Amino acid sequence: MGLDKRVCLVLGGAGDIGAAICKRLAESDATVILAGRSEEKVQAAVDELAAADIAVHSAIVDVTDVASCKNAISEIVSKYGKLDVLVNSAGISDIAPVLLGKIANWKSVLETNTLGAFIASQAALRPMISKRYGRIIHIGSISAEVGAPYNAIYAASKAGVAGLVRSLALEVAGLGITVNGVQPGYVRTKLFHQTQGARAKLKGVTLEKHEQSLVDDTPTGTLVSLEDVASLVEYLAREESQSITGQLLNVDGGRTAR
Ligand code: NDP
Repeated sequence: MGLDKRVCLVLGGAGDIGAAICKRLAESDATVILAGRSEEKVQAAVDELAAADIAVHSAIVDVTDVASCKNAISEIVSKYGKLDVLVNSAGISDIAPVLLGKIANWKSVLETNTLGAFIASQAALRPMISKRYGRIIHIGSISAEVGAPYNAIYAASKAGVAGLVRSLALEVAGLGITVNGVQPGYVRTKLFHQTQGARAKLKGVTLEKHEQSLVDDTPTGTLVSLEDVASLVEYLAREESQSITGQLLNVDGGRTAR
């Protein structure tokens, strides 16, 4: 049990949720490759984990770039002989009312969040199929299920990820590969502050007041922690999660239960 000797690639690994996932997987004795598109941010995240006595490897990967994903995974397979687990935590957002949204920004969100999830999954599938084993975990969002005013393109992009998860899970169910989505509610991260800061501005309230409204809207009365998300991902990465596939699991303090 645990993740001993499992080789795990975490895309968007230098982000807040991604780095927390890397930490949790490494604590479970996995071989972790923390990947991001910025060399500087990847190194900073690896150094921060090293300062906490957590050793992870690094890779530079842009999820919108087919060659970048394929090359990184080929290198991992050459070095470690396999890729057991793909976690995709890369994501961006664009806050704007639909009326004023910019098409270029919408394309970037879809390209990163949705197409990126397809590109990363495709690159991971070949080595997983050859070993008849794999765990693919995409970080989606509850906005795939509930409306996200001023963030419609993001909600649409994550609904696309949900469609990928369900469909791909069925395609590879007989090959020892599971595909799942973890859909967080609100987690305080860089993306959260950027997104919710812009939302607060549109509502004409302070970020503090807006954050309080999010807490009030959450049945557990607290926002979701990085560890809440990371520990579910770690479970889904395990061999013993074999019967969970094609699922979208909400980590949201009960927000979508209403
Ligand atoms: P962060 O901004 O901290 O992390 C997002 C990461 O994605 C960054 O490291 C960013 O890199 C990376 N990224 C963006 N574009 C690309 C790309 N083309 N290729 C590779 N990496 C890329 O935010 P979070 O940790 O909050 O977000 C992680 C995931 O969780 C996202 O998918 C997000 O949508 C999802 N999520 C977050 C919620 C929250 O409340 N925080 C709620 C629901 C879902 P760089 O810094 O270089 O841009």
